[in-house]
Amino acid sequence: MDQTKIDALRAQPVPDFLHLIDGKHVPASDGGTMNILSPIDGQVLTTVAKGTAADMEAAIASARAAFEDRRWAGQSPAARKKVLLKWADLIEANALELAVLGVRDNGTEIGMALKAEPGSAASTIRYYAEALDKIYGEIAPTASDILGMVHKEPVGVVGAIIPWNFPMMIGAWKLGPALAMGNSVVLKPSETASLSLMKMCDLALEAGLPPGVLNAVTGEGKVVGEVMGLSMDVDVLVFTGSGATGRRLMEYAARSNMKRVYLELGGKSPHIIFADAPNLDEAAKAAAGGIFRNSGQVCVAGSRLLVEASIHDDFVAAVVKATEAMRVGDPLKVDTTIGAVNSEIQLAQNLGFVETAQAEGGQVVTGGNRILQDTGGYYMAPTIVTGITPGATLTQKEVFGPVLGVTPFSSDDEAVQIANATVYGLAGGVWTTNLSRAHRMVRDVRTGVMHVNTYGGADGTVPLGGVGQSGNGSDKSLHAIEKYINLKTAWIKL
Ligand code: NAD
Repeated sequence: MDQTKIDALRAQPVPDFLHLIDGKHVPASDGGTMNILSPIDGQVLTTVAKGTAADMEAAIASARAAFEDRRWAGQSPAARKKVLLKWADLIEANALELAVLGVRDNGTEIGMALKAEPGSAASTIRYYAEALDKIYGEIAPTASDILGMVHKEPVGVVGAIIPWNFPMMIGAWKLGPALAMGNSVVLKPSETASLSLMKMCDLALEAGLPPGVLNAVTGEGKVVGEVMGLSMDVDVLVFTGSGATGRRLMEYAARSNMKRVYLELGGKSPHIIFADAPNLDEAAKAAAGGIFRNSGQVCVAGSRLLVEASIHDDFVAAVVKATEAMRVGDPLKVDTTIGAVNSEIQLAQNLGFVETAQAEGGQVVTGGNRILQDTGGYYMAPTIVTGITPGATLTQKEVFGPVLGVTPFSSDDEAVQIANATVYGLAGGVWTTNLSRAHRMVRDVRTGVMHVNTYGGADGTVPLGGVGQSGNGSDKSLHAIEKYINLKTAWIKL
């Protein structure tokens, strides 16, 4: 990473952003805008169009028209693949510009942002572009003179609602398979991190995606998101975000056209350290990295540290050391390891969770406070709280910030019991050299993702999804394609 190039990009003013509807940039129907504050310094960075119900309806109508006239689904797989590959190339060619814009908008440290945002978005889109001409229908063994054919059809109009922590990456997890399978999309980025994703959508048009196939409307979730959720013309909702919003989306679907709803929600992931871990120093660094990167605003963050009682104090000391070695600060400096918290509201919530943990008997062993306040930005010291009981708020509620709760355990059964004692089931990790124990933990800890002697693996070839109230369905891998197709059976008499 070249600091000079990053500094030059951050010095550029950010233009105002408009919706993308039917291939055109348009303002809100009533001319409304929203200020976008940068978490780096709390200053106004730019404005985005504040979407109205009419804006969302226009975007859905545009996507519907594009789907009905088959301007995208009707193209050959080779033609669609070419457009998507070109899009991935354009994202890569503009990677630093997109990453810097995204960091100014959401505060993620640039090293992580560059890799996880344009880097991962480009590879995700390329993955589904490469896959799309290798996905066939089926012929079933029915009667000898009748063919039972199974077609894989696009579903129609996909509504995609995206959070703020990794807008481009998570956007690509939805857009890649949805567009590869021939659907049209209406995108609703987060209020507090829309800019890089909106720019990424422009690049899709530049790559040759026909107008109307991808539309994007900015604004408040409770306004434009609700219109999308209740629309009779949206066939599938794909969502990443909080459980509270996920629950609303299911209600919208039930109250409208019973559209399919796929949810990727929060987590409270247990990171379990046994005394026989292969390397306790490495485990301590992974425990710190597993929660604190991107200020803990990672869905799979290992936010609960379960430590075998016999090594508890030494291990906590090692995690504190690894944590205090991380540099919190300006996310656009290449040597920063932890950037800013996304918003002032989020920062206040994080600090509130620390206060509650202390009131419930927890001890803060590092961090616990806002820092760098003179910058005007939203920075929080990475925080570790020991003495967290299985019933404590810090065990039960997702913070989505840089706060790690530590709980001791004394047996394998107790570790599993504590690990499973939440409504969530997104990710988890275990450190041990005992092969049977490792396999038992993978089997018994109720999650969609488990790590053994590592934490936070990210690769588009394997699914990411939760169980329990962490969601349904999976993003990533070929399995994600199932969300974006209908199976149609045709009986054909010979
Ligand atoms: P959020 O639910 O507040 O917002 C997510 C999106 O939903 C935003 O675009 C928002 O505008 C929209 N929205 C809000 N209210 C709406 C409504 N009534 N109708 C329709 N849309 C509405 O979540 P957030 O704070 O942006 O994101 C943080 C959450 O996302 C955390 O819980 C985190 O764990 C989760 N997350 C999960 C994964 C995963 O893969 N499981 C990945 C990243 C983040």
